[in-house]
Amino acid sequence: MTTILITGANRGIGLALTSEFLRQGDQVIATARDPKQANDLNALAVEYPAPALRIEQMDVGDTAAVERVVASVAQQVGVLDVLINNAGVFPEEGDERLEELSLGQFETAFSVNVVGTARVSQLFLPLVRKSERGRIVNISSGAGSISDKTDSRHYCYSVSKAALNQLSRALAAELKPESIVVVPITPGWVKTDMGGELAELTPEASAASLVKTISKLTIKQTGLFLDRHGRSGVYNW
Ligand code: NAP
Repeated sequence: MTTILITGANRGIGLALTSEFLRQGDQVIATARDPKQANDLNALAVEYPAPALRIEQMDVGDTAAVERVVASVAQQVGVLDVLINNAGVFPEEGDERLEELSLGQFETAFSVNVVGTARVSQLFLPLVRKSERGRIVNISSGAGSISDKTDSRHYCYSVSKAALNQLSRALAAELKPESIVVVPITPGWVKTDMGGELAELTPEASAASLVKTISKLTIKQTGLFLDRHGRSGVYNW
């Protein structure tokens, strides 16, 4: 039985990942900032009651909340095979010039997309170390590519995702001797509140390919910038 924890699992890609992992028989700890409002996630819990699906309240910016979930997973499962840092924010419209943005928007992007990922990874690492096939998956974006950047759009988001890529790469190097895989993965352009209506993929289509890729990850892939099909080289650093 593979145990997976997903942040931001109440909607969008996180919810679709939860559903897809459950369909293939894995055990999911789905975390959400406000589980009471997470109607779709609560409906899944009726279909897949615990221990298949457990829902935990967790804001990735709240150290005490993350510590509480770590303690709960330690007590109930004792191990975490896959940590998926999916929670993310896009705090701007997208077309703003630098002078039109507030520094608070940069801080929001960094606090969730980068520091939130670092916090959750740091606190769950002891449980990931207990897995025979530990994996930390950071949901990144093509917007995080530095070498492909040719415009000035999405300042806060793209700068934060570039930082997330560097965080992933550093953690991959640190944990390689322990055979723990760390990868940034792009989900594609997905129809969610963040991706918008014009996006190419449904959350279910993105999640189906991500789940296949995450399930098959090996140490040879650690530190690579992967697309949802597990290919490196499609997105450049
Ligand atoms: P979404 O529909 O906007 O969902 C974002 C999720 O993140 C929600 O569950 C949200 O929870 C959660 N979240 C935000 N701040 C949080 C915090 N402080 N603590 C815990 N959870 C928090 O976005 P999405 O499209 O599914 O995006 C998921 C991931 O994919 C993100 O990392 C995003 O950058 C990445 N991505 C998306 C696309 C795309 O086209 N959609 C493309 C590339 C990468 P609340 O409901 O409580 O706000």
